[in-house]
Amino acid sequence: MSYIDLHIHSTLSDGTSSPAEIIAKASSKGLSAISITDHDTMNAYPDAILSGEKAHVEIIPGVEITAHHQERSLHILGFGLQYDSPALCAGLQTIQAARQERNQRIIAKLQGFNLPISLEDLPQGKGQTGRPHIAQVLISKGIVRTQQEAFAKFLRKNGAAYACRQLLPVRQAIELISDAGGIAVLAHPGSLKITETDLSALTRQLMDEGLCGIEAYHPMNSEKTLQFLLKLCHSFGLLTTGGSDFHGREGDKAPIGEAGGKRRIPSHLLDQLKSSINTIQERQVPINRSQMYTDKCTPF
Ligand code: AMP
Ligand code: ZN
Ligand code: FE
Ligand code: FE
Repeated sequence: MSYIDLHIHSTLSDGTSSPAEIIAKASSKGLSAISITDHDTMNAYPDAILSGEKAHVEIIPGVEITAHHQERSLHILGFGLQYDSPALCAGLQTIQAARQERNQRIIAKLQGFNLPISLEDLPQGKGQTGRPHIAQVLISKGIVRTQQEAFAKFLRKNGAAYACRQLLPVRQAIELISDAGGIAVLAHPGSLKITETDLSALTRQLMDEGLCGIEAYHPMNSEKTLQFLLKLCHSFGLLTTGGSDFHGREGDKAPIGEAGGKRRIPSHLLDQLKSSINTIQERQVPINRSQMYTDKCTPF
């Protein structure tokens, strides 16, 4: 039996390991395939694929997009995308612009408390920046000691320096993925903290929006939720995926290759995913910025 991990964050978003370090870890654990699913960016690609080839670890191009559905924020994973699709790149750039705007508003609030922090303190470069990076700046300046403290004091939802960010409606996030030839999957449903009945109803709604699968194996899904999701996917004809959601930082719930409670993710899930990864002809659908809504819900 071989194993995979289809949910990992790198330094290109809020992880602490570079794609090459992640691939080395995956290889040392004997994983046959992984996906680096950074938040709202595919900047790890194509380099990650080339590094994977050298290490004999298959790399499935992936992304994790935060979207908005009925007052709730959802994380949608995309797998098998053409990472250089112009429509996808334009869409992800629009999302990054919304992140930058939000970072500015958070920094302005922190400056309002006379804290010595500015936008220039955030890492510049290929990677995406967000609240974890602002937390690191607060730590490096001795304002707080840990990321947890930075969130508790300033950055958590409704915290003193919290600012919301505009999110894509879930339909557009799914379209962005499927128009780039990818498969859209609901990430870590366990994080939604809703009943099985509500999860089943939500899944139906998301299927109408183009959802093709559910991340059943994830550290935030309890064993009971996992078993429920496996049955749900079977009866709804959905794909199942799984991953560790490894970030390499404090608070990680599982190491690379594990989905909580030492559960491993069997590679047959990837075989099914691959047979579905389609070659939908890319439609050039630019995102209409006015359709990005303000996030009113607790970000995960
Ligand atoms: P952002 O993408 O800027 O909204 O930041 C979201 C990220 O912040 C998550 O992926 C977590 O890594 C981190 N995060 C969210 N809430 C907390 C918290 N309460 N304590 C520590 N880190 C958190
Ligand atoms: Zn993250
Ligand atoms: Fe997530
Ligand atoms: Fe994630």
